[in-house]
Amino acid sequence: MDHFDFILAGSGAAGLGLAYHMVNSPLRDCSILIIDKEVKNKNDRTWCYWTDQTTLLDTIVYRSWDHLKFISDDFERSFTLFPYQYHMIRGIDFYEKTTQVLSKHNVHFAHGAVEQIKDGEDIAEVVVGGTSYYGKWVFDSLFSPSEFHVDTSRYHDVKQHFKGWEIETNQDAFDPRVMTLFDFRTPQKGSMRFIYILPFSSRRALVEYTLFSARLLTEEEYAEGLSNYIQNILGLKEYRILAEEKGIIPMTDQPFPRCGGKRILFTGTKGGRVKPSTGYAFLRIQQDSAAIVQSLLKYGHPFHLPDSPWVFKMSDSVMLQLMHRRGNLMKPIFTQLFQNNPIHRIFRFLDETASPIDTILLMTSLSPLPFIQALLKLVILRRT
Ligand SMILES: Cc1cc2nc3c(=O)[nH]c(=O)nc-3n(C[C@H](O)[C@H](O)[C@H](O)COP(=O)(O)OP(=O)(O)OC[C@H]3O[C@@H](n4cnc5c(N)ncnc54)[C@H](O)[C@@H]3O)c2cc1C
Repeated sequence: MDHFDFILAGSGAAGLGLAYHMVNSPLRDCSILIIDKEVKNKNDRTWCYWTDQTTLLDTIVYRSWDHLKFISDDFERSFTLFPYQYHMIRGIDFYEKTTQVLSKHNVHFAHGAVEQIKDGEDIAEVVVGGTSYYGKWVFDSLFSPSEFHVDTSRYHDVKQHFKGWEIETNQDAFDPRVMTLFDFRTPQKGSMRFIYILPFSSRRALVEYTLFSARLLTEEEYAEGLSNYIQNILGLKEYRILAEEKGIIPMTDQPFPRCGGKRILFTGTKGGRVKPSTGYAFLRIQQDSAAIVQSLLKYGHPFHLPDSPWVFKMSDSVMLQLMHRRGNLMKPIFTQLFQNNPIHRIFRFLDETASPIDTILLMTSLSPLPFIQALLKLVILRRT
């Protein structure tokens, strides 16, 4: 069998997520081929997101938090999230659950590196290990960071990069009801640096040293940031490292084309689903999968998809400009943001669902000068 209704190149958050949405829709009997060079049997990452909605993936949520903490040098606040929750899904649970459900449908898996994807009038061809497969529609989520280049003369090339340790202590050290989104009590050294904590119990937590900057650190620098924080700020002299997580997520305002041809749609990171100013992508990818299914059902093609409103694109660019050029300002800016706004307004703004009033209130809660300067630089950057 080499002809399919849909071929999904890549079986990560986007590939498996889209197939999962398809089999949970009237498209459930269509033939699907999913191709990946890796066997997805490792817990290679954890995904977190906030939401006030139910989703198709609620049954595999590993942990949820109802409270979120923001900490800076002279300001600390714990927010009640209701009606939102902050959820965490483990990669391995996502891969196992989706694969298990998909294998009960007309879904096939091929293992191998995709060598080529060729567009066609009525059908596209995907070549894997010299074998060709044909699909009416091909969804390509094969993102390669080494082959991805930002035109830095016009756009920003910032990265969210982090290293996390899951640690265990002998005494109670964490409040398992409260996750820490930002703890800025770490030297900034000219770039935005903070600690992110997901507590699983009073003695076990994932502690991540996270930067939003253009330059990556050495392994030793990440480890030093983590151990300094754990020992000097949390005051934990003895702890065991149970697991490690690290990652690099592209944060750029360079547009990602969605359309790869008449029969090819780019999805996931490759389809620009990472929110440029935050690095969050998982829920956006799942929402995109739902929108692709709706487009296929309503229009007979997958290209009728919503785009981000211009005001949010502009604010992403302004934030990237500040992160890139004025990293030392990010701690005071984020402190003002969390000091002067309810958490639900911040979530709506970052989710791009904020009303014009929300947006005005949020923008006027911040000192205007850095934003005006960044906006002017942006105008100059785009004109050259
Ligand atoms: C460590 C880490 C943690 C993250 N945590 C969060 C989070 O908490 N919240 C959030 O919102 N976002 C998070 N993200 C960002 C984003 O959600 C993830 O990167 C997400 O996995 C992107 O989905 P994707 O399908 O585009 O890419 P992936 O999930 O990386 O899937 C791409 C797939 O393509 C395959 N592939 C690539 N090239 C080929 C080829 N030539 N042939 C065949 N297969 C190929 C790969 O093996 C992979 O399985 C995180 C990212 C990382 C790296």
